[in-house]
Amino acid sequence: MPTYEYECTKCNHRFERFQSMKDEHVKRCPECRCKVQRLIGTGAGIIFKGSGFYQTDYRSKDYHEAAKKDTSAASAPAASDAKSAATTEGKKEATAAKKSTA
Ligand SMILES: [Zn+2]
Repeated sequence: MPTYEYECTKCNHRFERFQSMKDEHVKRCPECRCKVQRLIGTGAGIIFKGSGFYQTDYRSKDYHEAAKKDTSAASAPAASDAKSAATTEGKKEATAAKKSTA
């Protein structure tokens, strides 16, 4: 399905719509109900930056939470790095041994 990109002629709000050829094109801005014009020749998803700040904000909240978790988890066992590396190696060897016997 082709992606059509629209830009509001009044508030410059940009948004994308997935539509089939026979679907009616969007004529009104979802933000201010003014006329929109279709932007031509854009690939899918490339100009996603401009398509709604609220979406990006919403997502980044989750992203920050995940990032926080990631950093704390990653920095905590830093002291026992050599130890954990050794266990990983041991596990690998065990799996390899299992595989070769089976
Ligand atoms: Zn608008």
